[in-house]
Amino acid sequence: MMDLLVPDKAHDESRQGEALLLEPIKDNNNGRKLYIESYGCAMNFSDSEIVASILAEKGFVTTSDYTAADVIFINTCSIRENAEQRVRNRLRDFTIAKVKNPGLVVGVLGCMAERLKSKFLEEEKLVDVVVGPDAYRDLPNLIEQVDGGQKAVNVLLSREETYADISPVRLNSNGINAFVSIMRGCDNMCSFCVVPFTRGRERSRDPQSIVAECTDLFNKGYREVTLLGQNVDSYKWKSESPEVQKSESERPVLGMDLLDRVLASGEDFIELQNQTAVEVEGVTFANLLEMVALISPELRIRFSTSHPKDITDDVLYTIKKYDNICKYIHLPIQSGNSRVLKLMNRTYTREWYMDRIAAINRIIPECAISTDMITGFCTETEEEHQDTLSMMDHVKYYFAYMFMYSERPGTLAAKRYADDIPESVKKRRLQEVVAKQQEHSHERLKKLVGTTQKVLIEGFSKKSNNDYSGRSDQNTVVVFPVGENYKPGEYVNVLIDKCTTATLIGRVI
Ligand code: SAM
Ligand code: SF4
Repeated sequence: MMDLLVPDKAHDESRQGEALLLEPIKDNNNGRKLYIESYGCAMNFSDSEIVASILAEKGFVTTSDYTAADVIFINTCSIRENAEQRVRNRLRDFTIAKVKNPGLVVGVLGCMAERLKSKFLEEEKLVDVVVGPDAYRDLPNLIEQVDGGQKAVNVLLSREETYADISPVRLNSNGINAFVSIMRGCDNMCSFCVVPFTRGRERSRDPQSIVAECTDLFNKGYREVTLLGQNVDSYKWKSESPEVQKSESERPVLGMDLLDRVLASGEDFIELQNQTAVEVEGVTFANLLEMVALISPELRIRFSTSHPKDITDDVLYTIKKYDNICKYIHLPIQSGNSRVLKLMNRTYTREWYMDRIAAINRIIPECAISTDMITGFCTETEEEHQDTLSMMDHVKYYFAYMFMYSERPGTLAAKRYADDIPESVKKRRLQEVVAKQQEHSHERLKKLVGTTQKVLIEGFSKKSNNDYSGRSDQNTVVVFPVGENYKPGEYVNVLIDKCTTATLIGRVI
């Protein structure tokens, strides 16, 4: 994987393997210490906070030292093969801890747990508990089962679970930015992607609980929330009869349910998806954005991830209307070629994507756009790769996450298409997109020299305690000298004097 200039933290390389530390709930200490380490996307980091909250209620105290722990959890990612390899390597480190403390419980949570299920217990003898992303409420029982001498597995996926009532504890955050999950799962079935298999069907969270959580964060001093979902633009909530309340037979056939049918019949996936799409009235993502924006003009709102097929003009006008909704959209393209996009089952073409970019530029001209790209997808030709490069020239993204295609077992692409692009070609194409992105990022930042940016101060800069660091509305990291009249959690106007390839440098005015 190659992440370049990624200040939005949706997949923050510097946080991989981070341990979560919470304060104990007073008078409720069961004497056992929990160590929890997270990998992958922001959703996983957010889930670890939910897990820690569930176990804190049962008297567990978190520790940042795994050698002192009674329970070790590792919250895993399956998105690419190297993400899984990283987790397996990390598990080796826990072997010594288990030898020293035979009562130690080692658990695997998240996407890899869901993908491998009980096979994990056979493959990694060290592991006692395997728990999928929808089964975290069951953790106290599962730990009890292990205490009783058994191995424990719960990988049931749910159509309802959103953990809406669990208020995640966030004590190892900076107290300024927080992730708020607004939906779970994904119904899109991009052919390369394992997420629909590991996180299940898409379901939206009750908007009142989202607004309540964001209000509570604001009252505690937080000044930025990032609303999280795999496809935030398809957020929908209908209070009288939410989808989840329909009987099995009434539900539209979506996502994974279509996979077997498509594989058996050879029918066109995209056409079938269109036929089964349903119009749902109720709270849309645009409405939700507005509800959160109205909490306070002092609360900044970001969101991730937008899907090119679902992002509406309504959403764009809502972003434009509120100063506190950041002018920044992460809009993954994956490939700039329509044939490859069809194989990827992205359900849009190059032209459709360009139309959405044109809409963003027309409605919110100052909006920064970032993206995700995959190089060397099955059968991608040199010309098709050139289409990705020319799309980059067309959009001039501010940032990008760039990956080589990694075949994932069970996905539509793994079942249907040969992973036929040699590693060396995938890598060379990746280097080409990375080089181009570096140029564009630098070009974008250079244009901001001489402008004034409103920055939310997040803390000291990585390099020096003489400087503060924060992000602009458009999500670029801005570094400037520490001063007496401002502190983290406050907004300042920074005049930009210069830039590096990834950072703006300036002074408060
Ligand atoms: N839901 C988001 C979307 O559709 O844009 C992204 C979710 S995924 C966790 C993040 C990114 O990982 C994707 O946008 C894609 O670029 C990349 N990705 C997913 N599966 C991959 C695979 N099999 N090989 C390489 N990259 C992959
Ligand atoms: Fe994966 Fe596509 Fe869903 Fe994103 S939208 S999580 S890439 S299936």
